[in-house]
Amino acid sequence: MKIICIGRNYAEHIKELDNEKPKEPIIFLKPDTAILLKKQPFFIPEFSNDVHHEVELLVRINRIGKHIDKKFAHKYYDEIGLGIDFTARDLQTQLKEKGLPWEKAKSFDGAAVVGKFINKNEIEDINNINFSLKRNKSVVQSGNSMLMMWKIDELIEYVSKYFTLKIGDVIFTGTPAGVGKVETNDVLTGYIEETEMFSIKVK
Ligand code: ZN
Repeated sequence: MKIICIGRNYAEHIKELDNEKPKEPIIFLKPDTAILLKKQPFFIPEFSNDVHHEVELLVRINRIGKHIDKKFAHKYYDEIGLGIDFTARDLQTQLKEKGLPWEKAKSFDGAAVVGKFINKNEIEDINNINFSLKRNKSVVQSGNSMLMMWKIDELIEYVSKYFTLKIGDVIFTGTPAGVGKVETNDVLTGYIEETEMFSIKVK
């Protein structure tokens, strides 16, 4: 399987990192080795002093497809999840400055938290999902899929122009504002509405 991530999909997050608003979605990939194994803590890698959490809604693909029209995109997934796109921000900044790919900063082992999934039938409106991340006791990020610049079905249309989507592929749909540094001994807990989707210890 592959993980396809969308960058800069929430206006407020673009502002906080002082990035330009893109004209098209920004895409990068994570290999399956980036997935944090179930029940394992996240280890801050030795090559970074500034790893950030980015909580994101996930979409799991359930049908093979290419050049999917957004009208039909809803047929290609039936589960929505929540995860973290861990980012070595210091390394990413260096790579961005040099115009180099971001993979070292975003695709290292453990950099993708894939939490639980819920059937989309249990969700009233895909474009109105509240989600949040608690770092220890405080809510540090909260978002709503309504605020995405490109909605889930548009992302599937766009991504499938470039990549054949296969069963089990996961799309990370971008992070809302509030990204920040994680520290050793943090506990990161993600929620869709009131439901806990994952809980991760940082080491
Ligand atoms: Zn992200």
